[in-house]
Amino acid sequence: MTTPTITTAAVALTTAGLLAGGCTYAALSAQSQLFGKVLIASRNPNEIALTYDDGPNDIVTERLLDVLAQHNVRASFFLIGRYVRQRPQIARAIASGGHLIGNHTMTHPWLAWQSYTRIRQELTECNSLLEDTLGIPIRYFRAPHGARRPAVLSIARSLGLTPVQWNILPKDWEPIGAEEITARTVRGITRNRQHSRGSNIVLHDGGQKDIGQPRLPTVDATNLLLHQYSPQTGTKFVTVDSWA
Ligand SMILES: [Zn+2]
Repeated sequence: MTTPTITTAAVALTTAGLLAGGCTYAALSAQSQLFGKVLIASRNPNEIALTYDDGPNDIVTERLLDVLAQHNVRASFFLIGRYVRQRPQIARAIASGGHLIGNHTMTHPWLAWQSYTRIRQELTECNSLLEDTLGIPIRYFRAPHGARRPAVLSIARSLGLTPVQWNILPKDWEPIGAEEITARTVRGITRNRQHSRGSNIVLHDGGQKDIGQPRLPTVDATNLLLHQYSPQTGTKFVTVDSWA
């Protein structure tokens, strides 16, 4: 029975590999719904949500707020709690600009690999801090790196938080400059429009390492995008809560 044993073992290994691959996909793929429903975008190809993760950040966030105000556009910001603790005034400036603010955890860990206790602590501490600092309820959450497992989503929902992912990731943390960030984003919007879906773009006004990450190219790219997709083109900029 050597051969069947080997075959069975091979099948078992392949199945295990596929399962592991499927779990990795579900945990890390931005658009996977396998581990529970996540908010991505509407089916209206003219709708675009500009979203910014990993702030607040010195200089960058305030410049970004100026650019958004010049174009009269509202965006969605997913803030890291420990930076809000250090820069509450920038977080308040985002809120008074009329932008949506969401929870991006206290310290930006890979939640998919954390314990229940740690996941809950990261989400509740960040939410309390945001609500105390801003005086408004926080109802949206984006997992750091988009990494999740069923527990992450169920804990978020039990706390009244809607998990938000994205469908365009221009990787603006790479040293590529504003024009390349813009070009990558435009390709994503074009692709989404071909598939009749709105665009949820994740950009970064900060970085997970610390406050002070150089993200001014992202601000310049935002300005370029807002010129290219002006209201005259039929584009409607929305915050992610309009898709909930
Ligand atoms: Zn992040």
